[in-house]
Amino acid sequence: MGTRVIVVGAGLSGLTSALILAEAGFRVRVIAKEPPSRTTSAAAGADWGPYLSDDRRLLGWSEQTRQTLVTIAGTEPSAGVTLVHGLEAERFPVPTPTWAVDLPDFAVCAPADLPPGYAVGWWFTAPVVDMPRYLEYLEARLYREGMAVELEAVSSLSDMTRQADIVVNCSGLGSRELAADASLLPVRGQLVVVANPPDNPVTRFFQDHGSREPVTYYLPQGDKVILGGCAQEGSENLEVDYDLAEAIIARCAAIAPQLGTAAVVEHRVGLRPSRPSVRLEVEWVDGRPVIHNYGHGGSGLTMSWGCAASVLALARALAVAADRRG
Ligand SMILES: Cc1cc2nc3c(=O)[nH]c(=O)nc-3n(C[C@H](O)[C@H](O)[C@H](O)COP(=O)(O)OP(=O)(O)OC[C@H]3O[C@@H](n4cnc5c(N)ncnc54)[C@H](O)[C@@H]3O)c2cc1C
Repeated sequence: MGTRVIVVGAGLSGLTSALILAEAGFRVRVIAKEPPSRTTSAAAGADWGPYLSDDRRLLGWSEQTRQTLVTIAGTEPSAGVTLVHGLEAERFPVPTPTWAVDLPDFAVCAPADLPPGYAVGWWFTAPVVDMPRYLEYLEARLYREGMAVELEAVSSLSDMTRQADIVVNCSGLGSRELAADASLLPVRGQLVVVANPPDNPVTRFFQDHGSREPVTYYLPQGDKVILGGCAQEGSENLEVDYDLAEAIIARCAAIAPQLGTAAVVEHRVGLRPSRPSVRLEVEWVDGRPVIHNYGHGGSGLTMSWGCAASVLALARALAVAADRRG
């Protein structure tokens, strides 16, 4: 009959976890109060790169995800994943991050090639993901496994444990209520999507995630470019701040001047679900197991496949233990 799993949440964490579980033979339902297109995940830029998360397991999850995204980029043209070469730079001298040096085409940037005002930088190729398209791709894969997201607000995880053998909690900031987690903190992000200037297109990404605000980055995605950003701790304001949007465009145009006059296509705002470390562990609720997978901060895409693989490993161990108990 198979182990019945309910995944709560249909952002990156929920869809990726549901997919990996379904493809491994679990009988999965996905329940979420918002469809994928209205999640934080849909508002993200996004590119691969560990950011705003100090979790010690981060590097393993990130590398596993990078490898999967590289495969998807090479095999699934409709998924919205492309491999883009670009520069990460910092205004202050900082050591090169350990995750970067192991990348296949990592290279330290020559001082003469750094934008004005920057102290250090390094080149590498990263998966860049058109998030709305990528979420549609994940949903389509789920659909092929016989699943569609069921839209419903969950009021308690206990309600879910009564309907399944295992519950996987991927509710992001919703875990403030569902898991009574007071350590979750929204970190507001805002992006501007512009048309990629056809006469002088941006082909490389740039990112200054900076140890300090403001963060500045742009990610080319074919005929558009995503410009960021900000990291406003504690803000839950989902309204577009147009002054900030202007400032973001100006900061990006200081690095790539053609972005200064590019047509604005869209504004995006989202709240990163941050906590001191990702919560990926089993909790027993009313005698039934809940696997938590939330709190990915600014690295939810970067860790998505690695975290989903850890969810699968926990689910398999729980299923084996349940079989032994008979
Ligand atoms: C502007 C911005 C840029 C970003 N850029 C990047 C980037 O470049 N790279 C990167 O790796 N990450 C990036 N991130 C971070 C990334 O977007 C998040 O870490 C990730 O989206 C979190 O995904 P999630 O599935 O855990 O949560 P979410 O996407 O928030 O999904 C949570 C789901 O849970 C559901 N839910 C919540 N409560 C309930 C309830 N009570 N009942 C039922 N369902 C519920 C919601 O409806 C939703 O479906 C960015 C974020 C922002 C905002």
